[in-house]
Amino acid sequence: MKTEYLDKYPKTLLNKGTGFLSGYSHSLNPYTGCSFGCSYCYVRQMPVSTFRDAKWGTWVDVKKGAAEIFQKELRRAKTKGSVTIFMSSSTDPYQPIEHKEQITRSLLEIMAADSPDFLFVQTRSPLVRRDIDLLLRLGDRVRVSMTVETDREDIRKHFSLDAPPINARLKTLQLLAEAGVPTQATIAPMLPSSERFAETLRSIVSRVCLDDYYMGDGSGGRRTRSLGIHTLYKQLGLEEWYDPTAYHKVHEQLKQFFSEDQIYISQQGFEP
Ligand code: SF4
Repeated sequence: MKTEYLDKYPKTLLNKGTGFLSGYSHSLNPYTGCSFGCSYCYVRQMPVSTFRDAKWGTWVDVKKGAAEIFQKELRRAKTKGSVTIFMSSSTDPYQPIEHKEQITRSLLEIMAADSPDFLFVQTRSPLVRRDIDLLLRLGDRVRVSMTVETDREDIRKHFSLDAPPINARLKTLQLLAEAGVPTQATIAPMLPSSERFAETLRSIVSRVCLDDYYMGDGSGGRRTRSLGIHTLYKQLGLEEWYDPTAYHKVHEQLKQFFSEDQIYISQQGFEP
């Protein structure tokens, strides 16, 4: 889908960590909007999307001048206490336009020089590999969490057509892990997957997070229900996967290849 880009000049970058992210002092969104436009994205129902005429997934605001503002905010926040940052809560910090704009990279440059206590990078884009040099400078104060909702590319296409292919995400996780960047494969939201999923992940990472619509959408599944996602499961004949107990199946599979302390369920997997 074509994305419309708008340049914005925000006054602030850091937001207070609240709700699902209350373990963090701040959240950080280098962009507003998201060109990946996942069908299940709960941000679709948040004011950032509902106050906009254009459909979620078709627009992205680029936060120009972000680095300068962020540098000041970070410095100020550090004088007040521990700074733990979740990037990003309502966009993917590695939008396709990031290739050109380098907003996220400019923020990482600042953090590499003046590091927060912890940075969690949540993405589903292979572009994160471009920034391995900066991520390494953060040492163990960073974790890159790569969303891998399923190992089935056909399923990915049904739910999230404009997001990067699964294989490219797995390859990126492998590159990051081999380079020494702390990583996590994040099965969130869990989509129908194959019997080999856990084994595939174990060959790449030593930490996984499993989350579903019921535990992870912040409303016990209500938000996702109102997005009408259930219809998609029905059309695909995969309704057994749209159930609060469905995650047990994948959890059992993960337990065969990962130890208990390598498996994180829902919010635990996103904590600093
Ligand atoms: S990548 Fe994240 S923010 Fe973007 S549409 Fe998908 S779920 Fe929403």
